[in-house]
Amino acid sequence: MPAYEAVIGLEVHAELETASKMFCACAVVDSTSAEPNTVTCPVCLGMPGALPVVNQRAVEMGLRVGLALNCAIPPFSQFARKSYFYPDLPKGYQISQYEYPLAINGWLEIDLPDGMTKRVRIRRAHLEEDTGKLTHTDGHSLVDLNRAGVPLLEIVSEADLRSAEEAEIYARKLVAILRYLGVNSGDMSKGVLRIEPNISVRPVGSSEFRTRTEIKNLNSIRSLARASAYEIERQIALWEAGGQVQQATLGWDEARQVTVVQRVKESADDYRYFPEPDLPVLEIGPAWVEDVRMGLPELPDARRDRFMGQFGLSRYDAAVLVAEQAVAAYFEAAVTAGGDPKGVANYLTGEVFRLMNSEGRDRQDIGAIRLTPPALAALVTLVRQGTITHGVARQLVETLYAAGGDPAALVAAHGLAQVSDADVLGEAVARTLDAHPGEVARYLAGEEKLLKFLMGLVMRELRGQADAQVVARLLAAQLAQRRG
Ligand code: ADP
Ligand code: MG
Ligand code: ZN
Repeated sequence: MPAYEAVIGLEVHAELETASKMFCACAVVDSTSAEPNTVTCPVCLGMPGALPVVNQRAVEMGLRVGLALNCAIPPFSQFARKSYFYPDLPKGYQISQYEYPLAINGWLEIDLPDGMTKRVRIRRAHLEEDTGKLTHTDGHSLVDLNRAGVPLLEIVSEADLRSAEEAEIYARKLVAILRYLGVNSGDMSKGVLRIEPNISVRPVGSSEFRTRTEIKNLNSIRSLARASAYEIERQIALWEAGGQVQQATLGWDEARQVTVVQRVKESADDYRYFPEPDLPVLEIGPAWVEDVRMGLPELPDARRDRFMGQFGLSRYDAAVLVAEQAVAAYFEAAVTAGGDPKGVANYLTGEVFRLMNSEGRDRQDIGAIRLTPPALAALVTLVRQGTITHGVARQLVETLYAAGGDPAALVAAHGLAQVSDADVLGEAVARTLDAHPGEVARYLAGEEKLLKFLMGLVMRELRGQADAQVVARLLAAQLAQRRG
């Protein structure tokens, strides 16, 4: 069987965190908790004759994303009606953009697992409005129109992704950028971001685009990865069996972990797109674009490069730290407080992340942990000065993580300082060897692996508070004497 590769393009729908909706003054509320149908008006209910007005803040947020994704911003963009019937769409059409989107021809660079980078081209980013929310209970379907008219930005990539893993990496990077820009929380459990991969497969080496399927409305990056991987395998098996992939819109059955056909794919013609007659053409002058560009924050890639240059971090460590804005800020606060950057990075991505993971705590909430940036900085300094060992530092991270406090005070109060007095260390070695004459004899008779065992005993005797290299030297010297 020939080797296959996937061809994937992603459509990402991100709600924009504006105060009000896309075309009316209704507030944007959390659709998972607000009382249903409490924030609606004639415009978002689709009453005949009600007129939409464009939310300037939403356009601005769309521009922020477009510019962050290296897109061109055409001087004009235009809203268009996309007609279809569904109970969550009272107007019978969605106001979207079609021929003239807000932003076009950008790219997003992703880091691949093999250490290479890849530019994924962004075809377009356009503004539209969200639909209402349907809840199906037994025998009934409930419609909540609080979400109807919430601003959405649809970001469409070219089909440049070649595996489920690449799709996942791209999605993570995109979400990080949206969060940095302050336009979307990335909280997919609240439905504020939905991902739709378009997937086809082809023999490696071919450049053809075979028939694709589109998986609708994935609401976590994990389901994006799983659904894509499943669909890729399904299509390969189909081609291999002599069959054909049918163009279709699929859903992801989370319980059974399979893709299921929802409908055979409609084409653009079915939507009867035409320019929205109730809205003027959107004119976006260069001054506005430059204004928005100037207001962009430092984005993850720029911050990663700065961390590498300014702090001497590896590309990998820097990328891990900047992936979450709050983590990057925590790291910088610890360095500002005097912590050695590499030491801070190591404890942060090692011990601290491990403790947060074990609690199921999100990295974005790092600002709330009890171990403060200055405390971590102080801890790293104690290690660097040789006051405490790495082993003790690791235990202290746990203590501080659980209860907070000042590292130096804890070291003093519990006598955790590293033992470096050669006499004290030498005595501990001697005591240990005296207490284990059998093992010492076997070591001296050639059983070399016992050295490690004896070393462990001495370190335990010193409660882990000694420099292992010094102890190893003393141990070797005393064993040599006993060979005598
Ligand atoms: P539509 O407008 O019907 O959604 P588009 O042509 O605009 O379709 O493409 C939507 C997405 O599908 C884009 O991300 C695009 O890169 C991707 N895509 C198009 N053709 C293929 C294909 N053969 N295999 C995989 N993805 C594809
Ligand atoms: Mg589509
Ligand atoms: Zn409204």
